Amino acid sequence: MTKYVYRFGGGANDGGAGNKNLLGGKGANLDGMASIGLPVPPGFTISTEMCTRYYQDGEVFPDSLKAEVADGLAHIEGVTGKKFGDAADPLLVSVRSGARVSMPGMMDTVLNLGLNDATVQGLAQVSGDERFAWDSYRRFVQMYSDVVLGLDHDAFEEALEIMKEDNGFFSDTEMEAKHWKALVGEYKTLVEDQWGKPFPQDVHDQLWGAISAVFGSWQSERAKVYRRLNDIPAEWGTAVNVQAMVFGNMGDTSATGVAFTRNPATGENVYYGEFLINAQGEDVVAGIRTPQYLTKAAREEANAKPLSMEEAMPETYAELARVFDILETHYRDMQDIEFTVERGKLWMLQTRSGKRTAKAALRIAVEMASEGLITEEEAIARVDPMALDQLLHPSLDPSATRDVLTKGLPASPGAASGIIVFDADTAERRNEMGDAVILVRIETSPEDIHGMHAARGILTARGGMTSHAAVVARGMGRPCVSGAGSLSIDNKERVLRIGKRELREGDTITIDGTSGEVMLGEVPTVQPELVGDFGVLMGWADKVRRLKVRTNAETPEDCRVARDFGAEGIGLCRTEHMFFEASRITSVRQMILAEDEAGRRAALEKLLPEQRGDFHSIFEVMAGLPVTIRLLDPPLHEFLPHSESEFAEVAEAAGVGVEVLKRRANELHEFNPMLGHRGCRLGVTYPEIYEMQARAIFEAACDVAEKSGAAPIPEVMIPLVATKRELELMKKVVDTAAELVFAEKGRRIEYLVGTMIELPRAALMADEIAEVGEFFSFGTNDLTQTTLGVSRDDAGRFLTQYVDKGIFARDPFVSLDVEGVGQLIEIAVEKGRKTRDGIKLGICGEHGGDPASIAFCEQAGLDYVSASPYRVPIARLAAAQAALKKG
Ligand code: ADP
Ligand code: MG
Ligand code: MG
Repeated sequence: MTKYVYRFGGGANDGGAGNKNLLGGKGANLDGMASIGLPVPPGFTISTEMCTRYYQDGEVFPDSLKAEVADGLAHIEGVTGKKFGDAADPLLVSVRSGARVSMPGMMDTVLNLGLNDATVQGLAQVSGDERFAWDSYRRFVQMYSDVVLGLDHDAFEEALEIMKEDNGFFSDTEMEAKHWKALVGEYKTLVEDQWGKPFPQDVHDQLWGAISAVFGSWQSERAKVYRRLNDIPAEWGTAVNVQAMVFGNMGDTSATGVAFTRNPATGENVYYGEFLINAQGEDVVAGIRTPQYLTKAAREEANAKPLSMEEAMPETYAELARVFDILETHYRDMQDIEFTVERGKLWMLQTRSGKRTAKAALRIAVEMASEGLITEEEAIARVDPMALDQLLHPSLDPSATRDVLTKGLPASPGAASGIIVFDADTAERRNEMGDAVILVRIETSPEDIHGMHAARGILTARGGMTSHAAVVARGMGRPCVSGAGSLSIDNKERVLRIGKRELREGDTITIDGTSGEVMLGEVPTVQPELVGDFGVLMGWADKVRRLKVRTNAETPEDCRVARDFGAEGIGLCRTEHMFFEASRITSVRQMILAEDEAGRRAALEKLLPEQRGDFHSIFEVMAGLPVTIRLLDPPLHEFLPHSESEFAEVAEAAGVGVEVLKRRANELHEFNPMLGHRGCRLGVTYPEIYEMQARAIFEAACDVAEKSGAAPIPEVMIPLVATKRELELMKKVVDTAAELVFAEKGRRIEYLVGTMIELPRAALMADEIAEVGEFFSFGTNDLTQTTLGVSRDDAGRFLTQYVDKGIFARDPFVSLDVEGVGQLIEIAVEKGRKTRDGIKLGICGEHGGDPASIAFCEQAGLDYVSASPYRVPIARLAAAQAALKKG
């Protein structure tokens, strides 16, 4: 029979420690902490396998589970010396969710379970604190009604508000035992009204209700959305943890808190966290009371009055700090910790690898390697390449003038400008319309996830550095300013008031999650400087990677950015964009609308110096490095004139009538241009176009070599080749142009002629094609289109559904279809090498900047990947990780 229940604490040894897949992160680490002797309240974990089985069996539990849970309860009773449901000295438990990876705030938890009208009396007796007992009971009824019974929790909030108002109280702390008791009465009435049954008094009914609800929360809408956004498979399931309660709400020597062993925003090696005296679990995160700082230094830096834990509870703090160090050494990573202090005694309630910003991830990885806690190779593996994206983008220009509206907490670094929106749905809608939005909320909740994802930045009026908004924003890499207390948000009127100023939905603001500032309008930004930890980690990555990293760039500016980011050449320089420039488009149009070769040559004559200038400026930046230039690729009709005035302009330049041009334009119409007159088919039908481009390339290369002494290495790339003969013809055009230029200039330049592999036939016939081609570059955008028979431009209509329904694991235009398209690449690699040993192989599609696809390129043995400039560092790190994985 499958074992589903694993006990922890009190010396239990069921072997659950570290087994996250089976017990979820929370359960595995609770056992882990208990096993190394840390103070953990005893409990047991029901495995994730039970979750899967529960759904398979139609949401019923097997009988065997009843017995296992009874054993688990007996374990807790044994360790605590209390009995579940005992009216004199009751055992209370929490029932907590916990999946393999943490899903902050997505899943449910119930605290203080085991309280009823009888046990509450016992709790009051034993604790000698009647107020505490009734406070705990009302919390339990409220949480249970919300999480397990699914009742409307606003009604409960309201009852509490009215109770406070009637008594003239401002805060919960003024409530006395009798008030809490009265509130419990009202809550029970609410339950009966809404649920039709009295609040469950049988503690075992309570327990099973909570267990079912926690398993049930795995299939909640918000959990599903979170899983989709984070690529978490539904099969993983959640575990359920049942654990003896400890109480942070037993008066002024009790407290509860959340901490990180290092600063999760900056990575600095200092303890970081918040706590609340006389409070329970959720209070810190919920933003109901403003939490206090953990350390004296943090309190002083923030200029806050309420004492830090270091000052208010020095002994417990010292104990906590000792635990931090033990945990970091044990788990060898920055930990995110929950703890509770019950009458001076510290209890650990959770530890996990903490979510962090990219900046913090870098700093922590580099410093931990320097401290000797992890190796350089582990440091490389620790940083998510995609997260670097956060660092590569601009930050606020320090010299720009700012109209600062207010300041909140710097919850997640980076700057963002956008229009104000007040709810998640609007954020999503406006984002889809192409607006940059800033989501402004009183506080965020898990229901806002999709809006936070759609927003450039998040601004909240309430909540601390560990609030929901802060944690989720850091995880998503969105800048966030939280707890900006001077904001007054009127969701009905859709206005945001800050002092005397009034902003409406649609007004532009800028937030700086690094300083906490909120500014009016859009504040200009500057490029990041990639030094310090970034440089160190990249250096380590470069040492271990085998794949070279090039960039896709076609302007000198992009080339410069890419070189600064470490690009080792250009993998794809498209030439068609050069043709669109205002000064040239008329000549381009004249060329494509010409009736004959002479007409085309006349227009190309005018384009030659322009094109030569383009290459000249690119070669200057890329001197000494390989530059792959793709000759003209798109269907000609893309360049056609549209308006009457455009036609008139071309007519004048070409010296022909507008009517003639219009007829030619009509003739150029294609039904399926993607598979039409494009790529090398243009070169085959109009060789003079490629001839001009080749001449421009070699003239520019010779000029730059002459001027700087460092010649670039042009790699002339022929697009959309399907047959060897096509490439042969085109190579002849290029070689002829090269010889002519070299003779004229009196110098030779090293160069290659090769092809893109972007048609299935080319991949299959790669051995033949390699007889002519000196390099292959996998054009995986077109190769994906042509292999799947899916038009990238039209796929939007169905692709999301294809991913949702599991037909594709991911969008194949974003992450390479390794099984299908990847197979064609492998065939081409093998066949190409067979003919031409050492043939240069690279990839230049969008996939060149996607870490999963880069891992495939490493496996397939390509020589380089090419990515857009801002993705170059991502590709460098991903290439290093791929090399390490391959070993
Ligand atoms: P989440 O995963 O949303 O953080 P948790 O299961 O960790 O949910 O619990 C929510 C809160 O309740 C946390 O602050 C946690 O520390 C607190 N808590 C959970 N179990 C106990 C317990 N046995 N005693 C005291 N506090 C608890
Ligand atoms: Mg937790
Ligand atoms: Mg292509």
